[in-house]
Amino acid sequence: MRLLLVEDEQRMAQALCELLRLEKYEVDHFANGLDGLSAIESGIYDIVILDVMLPGMNGFEIAKQARKKGIKTPILMLTARSELDDKVEGLDSGADDYLTKPFMTGELLARLRALGRRSLGAADGLLSFGDITLDTNTLMLEASGSGLSVRLGEKEYRILEYLIANGGQILTREQLALKIWGFQSETEYNNVEVYMSFTRKKLAFVEAKTKIKAVRGVGYELRCDDV
Ligand code: CA
Repeated sequence: MRLLLVEDEQRMAQALCELLRLEKYEVDHFANGLDGLSAIESGIYDIVILDVMLPGMNGFEIAKQARKKGIKTPILMLTARSELDDKVEGLDSGADDYLTKPFMTGELLARLRALGRRSLGAADGLLSFGDITLDTNTLMLEASGSGLSVRLGEKEYRILEYLIANGGQILTREQLALKIWGFQSETEYNNVEVYMSFTRKKLAFVEAKTKIKAVRGVGYELRCDDV
């Protein structure tokens, strides 16, 4: 699951990044509101953690702009205790939840788990497409026809999770590279192809009828033609 953190206080941001990475989230961090907004608009994030007071553009405005452009990514707004009206304004602006600083890390992680389930549309932790089911907790891939299952590597899991979440839509190699490896990595597009082939092998191993199809010159899509 890929998180975007937009927070200008450096120590806070660093501590949050460390915590979230320990919890196995992929995290990208921006300290400026304008950078944060363009990152949100890439559409590659599962959850956005948004501070209110930011240089460039404040959190309320960022949330409003993102919603105006049709971005549905869940947003958790961080507000200072002194900003009493923030809760109302935060929810009005399009944030899904808010948390008052200072907060307990357990509270933050609980909110993120709830927003993550909502983001994936997997209340029970299971994601399905065609004849395959993906367990978001154990990373197990199962095919209903054969009854076979296999555990996916982390990148393979993220690729399938992203394809399923976009059910049937074509994803470009650029979108996949950003989503899986993030803005701050130097990933070559070749990596996408390498991990795509690993993921296809896992699908073949469980004899899934759902396949990853390459759409020439565009990208990839998940298809299940014969179920
Ligand atoms: Ca701030």
